[in-house]
Amino acid sequence: MQLKPGMICPFCPGNESLTPPELLSYPSEDGSGWRLRVFLNKYPAIDAHEVIVESPEHKSSFGELPETAAVDLMSAVRDRMLALKQDTELEYIQFFKNNGPGSGASLSHPHSQLMALPIVPSQVQLELDGSLQHYEDHGHCIFCDLIELECGRRERVILENEELLVVAPYAPRFGFETWVIPRAHGSHFEMTEHGTLRAVGQALHKIARRLEAVLDYPPYNFLLHTAPVQEPSMPHYHWHMEILPRMSGVGGYEFGTGCYINAILPEESAAVLRDGLK
Ligand SMILES: [Zn+2]
Ligand SMILES: [Zn+2]
Ligand SMILES: [Zn+2]
Repeated sequence: MQLKPGMICPFCPGNESLTPPELLSYPSEDGSGWRLRVFLNKYPAIDAHEVIVESPEHKSSFGELPETAAVDLMSAVRDRMLALKQDTELEYIQFFKNNGPGSGASLSHPHSQLMALPIVPSQVQLELDGSLQHYEDHGHCIFCDLIELECGRRERVILENEELLVVAPYAPRFGFETWVIPRAHGSHFEMTEHGTLRAVGQALHKIARRLEAVLDYPPYNFLLHTAPVQEPSMPHYHWHMEILPRMSGVGGYEFGTGCYINAILPEESAAVLRDGLK
């Protein structure tokens, strides 16, 4: 549902009573209100389903928010994951953002979601299993190897700094698919230090702005892949963020086979995104 003229946005300041009770908030600089709020989803898909409103500003996309909102968002995800994992029944916490019509977003005010699950989802388990296989075969984390490989080749690197690497993955499912990978090895997002989280928030924001400029505000999703919260640290798994623009629909072929047809090479999409970031 997009807001029609005259409808009240429940995520805007002043309308807090329209949302379920607050679980977390960060105060605004002058202390008069909030700059980020988290509350339970009013229409939960599961018991532990939370909404994060990362800014009081009612904009039409994440890229139009100030960069500080993206940094706050990363801190809030960590804070809520640390709180949720206290419940030992919860095995996996999925963070995601649906941005724009067609992405699954139900309200235009930028927001993100956390779903805490009593199981490890099959897509995540596949990635964990693949990473473990690589570790057993080669003795290294596949994502640490990927950072080294991509930094050497350079053609799929979109952005890099001391904290992280942003790349177009070598076999993208979607045109302009982009991954943000911290340089320091860590399996659990919620154990990551603030400097890295800040850099990841800034990178997500830069990529969102760039996608919105290049592709004229496409719908897109962000999602976090991280280790199951009740597991100890893993040498074979490395958390990362995936950004998935939705330029064309997922249809029968993709649902049927799990294979995706993508019309743009990762080297080309990386060049387009990278050029505007300079
Ligand atoms: Zn609003
Ligand atoms: Zn690693
Ligand atoms: Zn992944």
